[in-house]
Amino acid sequence: MSSSTYDKGLHDLGNGCYAWMLPDGSWGWSNSGLITGSGTSLMVDTLFDLALTREMLDGIAPVLGQHPLGTLVNTHSDGDHVFGNELVAARGVEIVASAAAAELMTQEAVEQLAGIKKVAGPTGDFARHIFAPFDFEGITATGPDRTFEGELGLDVGGREVWLIQVGPAHTPGDALVHVPDAKLLYAGDILFVGGTPIAWAGPIDRWINALDRILDMDVTTIVPGHGPVSGKAEVSAMREYLVFVEAEARKRFEDGLDVDAAIASIDLGEYGELPEHGRLAQNVINVYQQLNPDMPREERLLVLGRIAALEGFPELDATAGGND
Ligand SMILES: [Zn+2]
Repeated sequence: MSSSTYDKGLHDLGNGCYAWMLPDGSWGWSNSGLITGSGTSLMVDTLFDLALTREMLDGIAPVLGQHPLGTLVNTHSDGDHVFGNELVAARGVEIVASAAAAELMTQEAVEQLAGIKKVAGPTGDFARHIFAPFDFEGITATGPDRTFEGELGLDVGGREVWLIQVGPAHTPGDALVHVPDAKLLYAGDILFVGGTPIAWAGPIDRWINALDRILDMDVTTIVPGHGPVSGKAEVSAMREYLVFVEAEARKRFEDGLDVDAAIASIDLGEYGELPEHGRLAQNVINVYQQLNPDMPREERLLVLGRIAALEGFPELDATAGGND
């Protein structure tokens, strides 16, 4: 899971499939995909704000000239994958997402994130630091026209594309987008490469199962939600991180440690070198919540505060960045 460099913009993955990538994959810097078929195309995810999404639509215009957009699929509900939806909807494109993701693609979610940037104090400072490049003002939440549960097969100009719901894991409604004839998978945030995954929903066991499912698939190219184009080696590496954190957190729960003590006492070892290593806090909270369903949910703002503290923000510099 070493971080590698990759270029911003359009990447031709072969077989009429593309990725639009935003290095460095940290908080909000996400990847989109484009699958072309005969006379049409399917987009996988939009970006974190309108300017970034406009820039992408301009950048892929030469491809869209031959393959007009017919469908947009959102892999999950997080803003860095959906906040540009209105620009695609304005082109008369059908938007598809899992029913669980659709429930969270609300205007309230937009306002919450915009609001986090205005909170006073150190947590607000951290939010302003990581979200500084993004503009959440003026975004109109735009959910799907069509939802699914489980699996949904789509025809993209004669090509078969499968949407496979594997959430709740990273979020409640995570889905994979599989292009069998290209042996290609757009994993959304089920895969983070070069950064630390964060389990907002979980359970982590379910996320591990999702990664096992990918490892069993006949795919050679995997586009993560954040990070460079990858393959199964990166899936295995992320799986090891989740297995490690799940075991360490479980052990501390069984030993009677409270969640703060558990977070403070886990030695990440080599994983401590990863950007956004402070996301450990949410991952431990997630395991504790699975083991004790009475434990209250924490607001994302509080979680950001824990992550900032663990990463030593602002004393230590926060160049390490993060993902969503
Ligand atoms: Zn993301």
